[in-house]
Amino acid sequence: MSPRACAVVLAAPSGTGKTTLAHRLVGQSADYVFSVSATTRSPRTGEVDGVDYYFVDRTGFETMIEAGDLVEWAEVHGRLYGTPRAELERAASRGHHVVLDIDVQGARQIKQRMPDAKLIFLLPPDVDTLMGRLTGRGTEDAAAVARRLYSALEELQVVEEFDYVVVNDDLDRCLETIRGIVSGKVETGASGAALQSARALRREIGRILDEDYSEYTNANR
Ligand code: 5GP
Repeated sequence: MSPRACAVVLAAPSGTGKTTLAHRLVGQSADYVFSVSATTRSPRTGEVDGVDYYFVDRTGFETMIEAGDLVEWAEVHGRLYGTPRAELERAASRGHHVVLDIDVQGARQIKQRMPDAKLIFLLPPDVDTLMGRLTGRGTEDAAAVARRLYSALEELQVVEEFDYVVVNDDLDRCLETIRGIVSGKVETGASGAALQSARALRREIGRILDEDYSEYTNANR
């Protein structure tokens, strides 16, 4: 990787607008490219193979693991996801910043293997925004929403491990902050306020799960 180019890892509970942010980051500047992951989950409407993901079956994914083709991989919501080594190598050879939209397990593995990677944890501004995005997807039934809320609870527990915590309250401001992090203008370290927001969010998600999704409690705990 050229001295200037870096790997930018974006992790967040689903419903934070992470994918939109990642695509905007890449769409607005030729300096950024997106790392297209491999996954065993089925394509959603409108998703294109090789653009949004490389859609592979389990056997294909396992072959990639055995061949050492994945820099990291993890099981998320019962499906396998991984970052192809070739995606990072291609970006590095061209001197591009590469944006990884991955889960917290993957983020940890990247940090171990690429200590210079910038790990950014994104937070939704509040629980209502999170719920709006989760239920507004239209592709998820209540059980799937409950599962994503449980995952969010777990993911929010590891916020402290990240180099940066950014609240996605305004898309443009958030993009500016991320560009500042990449260029070294924004200092490392999660602010006390950001960590407090993460804790408040966990409490709220816990309450919503108890009140509105209790029938799925046993299935998820
Ligand atoms: P979705 O199925 O909604 O596109 O993604 C589900 C979760 O898997 C998201 O948190 C997403 O960031 C994560 N994910 C996507 N690609 C990868 C990957 O290559 N590695 C890991 N560890 N997680 C990924």
